[in-house]
Amino acid sequence: MGIQSLTPLDVASIRADFPILTRTVGGPVDTPGPSPTAATPLVYLDNAATSQSPQSVIDAISGYYESYNANVHRGIHQLSMEASLAYEAAHDAVASFIGAAGREEVIFTKNTTESMNLVAQGWGLRTLGPDDSVVVTAMEHHASLVPWQQVCKRTGAELRYIPVTDAGALDMDAARSLIDASTAMVSVVHISNTLGTIAPVAELAELAHAQDAYCFVDGAQSVPTRPVDVDRLGADFLAFSGHKMLGPTGIGVLWGREAVLEEMEPYLYGGEMIRRVTYEDSTWEELPWKFEAGTPPIAEAIGLHAAVEYLEELGMERVRAHEDALTAYAYDRLADSGDIDIYGPSGQDRGGLVAFNLEGVHAHDLSSILDDAGVAVRAGDHCTQPLHDALEIPASARASFYIYNTTDEVDALVDAVGVARELFA
Ligand code: PMP
Repeated sequence: MGIQSLTPLDVASIRADFPILTRTVGGPVDTPGPSPTAATPLVYLDNAATSQSPQSVIDAISGYYESYNANVHRGIHQLSMEASLAYEAAHDAVASFIGAAGREEVIFTKNTTESMNLVAQGWGLRTLGPDDSVVVTAMEHHASLVPWQQVCKRTGAELRYIPVTDAGALDMDAARSLIDASTAMVSVVHISNTLGTIAPVAELAELAHAQDAYCFVDGAQSVPTRPVDVDRLGADFLAFSGHKMLGPTGIGVLWGREAVLEEMEPYLYGGEMIRRVTYEDSTWEELPWKFEAGTPPIAEAIGLHAAVEYLEELGMERVRAHEDALTAYAYDRLADSGDIDIYGPSGQDRGGLVAFNLEGVHAHDLSSILDDAGVAVRAGDHCTQPLHDALEIPASARASFYIYNTTDEVDALVDAVGVARELFA
């Protein structure tokens, strides 16, 4: 396993925890799972889209369904109490993972997108007006860009974009003038899922707070891959998704400062989030339940808890070191060939992904050739269409790495790019 000299993680034993990594690909895709004719080992480099789950996460989810499946916070029976305790414990585990004050600051949503909408619509629609501005970056994911864009359209607030320099960094001089007395919210993607750029969040949060504005951080790519402590971050909100950090789909997190969440009105109304309802009016449950209307993602929360435990056991500093080493290796190998355009900053200071184009080959064609070799990457605009417009490219291919990836797999990627080069020569 060619990664061992580069990383502090024991990648071979990590890989043994992930059942999916033993499967092959290349058979017919009309039914899920390996087919008898499939012979190519899976090289999974699409982790920025969705990561894989270790057996402990799969077991935690099936354990819930096998032995204590029940609704939470409703029944006085034993199963419901067991499920409620496990659901609450998942909030505590996530709170401690990100250094939050406690479970009252951790709201479970469906995904990062819903967490963004909770604040954009729940807070923005009610609060913003024509005299306000919302400042985002030019490298936002659609999950952040579109909610703020639509809320600004409806409220008359101005949406401002912090540009990205040619070197792939945020233009902080521009940020200092764009964030002004009119600014009510600075919403920034922590690590760009296309460029890999790491935003100077603490500095942006300071600029926001100097203007009495809030700071929202899209941590979809950062929380899974490096230590993120909300105190050190300095922001007021942080959003991320379970399925990008070894957990299941269907659960996301919104962290918010307790005082700010207390002031905010609920976004979704219904059962679970109320304290008292009459035909005339209703009052709300305490945090975080005020923002969790209806039956929540119980199995998913239990799975996310197991994912957080797995990551904590590895240590997020070591996860980051592994990401950095593998990304630098991939960057150098791809850059060495001379006919590949790589987007975003060069050098160490980037997140664990590399988006690129092979000259003369559309990213979709490239990814389909990679797929023939068993290498799974993303191709398209990665939900950053305006950024792709600014880069003047229709699409890019993106390889993204996680704790179980190896340098051998990066070599497989580079070899498969070589096949595409030959085919299109
Ligand atoms: N923000 C970033 C930076 C992302 O990479 C993604 C996922 N591609 C999202 C937001 C949206 O995440 P989800 O689809 O889980 O809501």
